[in-house]
Amino acid sequence: PIKHIAFIGLGNMGGPMAANLVKKGFTVTAFDLSAPMLEKAVANGCHKAASAHAALEGADVVVSMLPSGEAVRSLYLGVHGLLQSMDAATLLIDCSTIAANDARQLIAAAGERGIAALDAPVSGGTAAATAGTLSFMCGGDEDAIARARPVLEAMGANIFHAGPAGSGQVAKICNNMLLAIHMIGTAEALQLGVDNGLDPAVLSDIMRASSGGNWSLEKYNPYPGVMENVPAARNYEGGFSVALMLKDLGLAMDTAAGSASSTPLGALAKNLYQLHGGDPINQVLDFSSIQNLFRRPVGD
Ligand code: NAD
Repeated sequence: PIKHIAFIGLGNMGGPMAANLVKKGFTVTAFDLSAPMLEKAVANGCHKAASAHAALEGADVVVSMLPSGEAVRSLYLGVHGLLQSMDAATLLIDCSTIAANDARQLIAAAGERGIAALDAPVSGGTAAATAGTLSFMCGGDEDAIARARPVLEAMGANIFHAGPAGSGQVAKICNNMLLAIHMIGTAEALQLGVDNGLDPAVLSDIMRASSGGNWSLEKYNPYPGVMENVPAARNYEGGFSVALMLKDLGLAMDTAAGSASSTPLGALAKNLYQLHGGDPINQVLDFSSIQNLFRRPVGD
């Protein structure tokens, strides 16, 4: 049975994920390039490692939660990478959102050394990471996913097997492309109503009971004053940043180019987020702040 987990990357997502593994009784040895993030993990019950290599000593599983494909490659690949020295019995679970091709390359390189690996990006954001209710979208062999399941179940509520290596990443960017599209559509529809004298809360009630109903409208309403406990209720602070949404839309467009798929609304969504994120202040705001692109100055 899995007992000892090495956890690399303890940021907004990785920090609470590692804390949940500790709560479920796993021994977690943590490493992050950022000393303050590592100290926070130690305060949550993780053991501190001096390096990623040191964190892997005696580990049954390594979980990584890093910001980019470049960070994942530099951690595992190359002459100084973890794959060079890790025990072939250690299962590799990468939860970062990265390009599907980067995930496939990593899993193939691991396979060459006899190491089982899977891509397992997540949906749900920091609230679900803290609550232990993330959705995992896994790509890889059935066997590897079966081995990973107890670890993933300690951090999430839904574990999906999307298909072979890289498929978790494909599912993740399809979902986030659709999310961007229906968020923008919801924002423009609400603004059209408001510009024509409707109360956005009344309009939201009508549309959620009608054929325009969707997650952005019902669970994450972008118009201030309609819902409590969403970023729109706190000046779009916290949540899922415009910068991270732009990263995911970039991955979606790269994937579409690779498969010669037509994604006109995804391309437009990326363009609108680029316009919105052109102001650096907006980059750090939650992605539902796209509402501001449509709102008119007060008194107009
Ligand atoms: P973050 O920037 O808060 O955390 C990343 C951490 O990785 C940082 O603490 C950084 O110091 C560390 N790090 C970077 N390179 C490292 C290396 N080589 N070795 C060790 N540590 C390293 O990011 P986050 O919000 O936790 O997101 C992590 C991943 O999860 C991203 O791929 C993101 O797209 C994805 N994601 C985020 C959310 C969200 O709502 N924030 C939701 C779903 C998925």
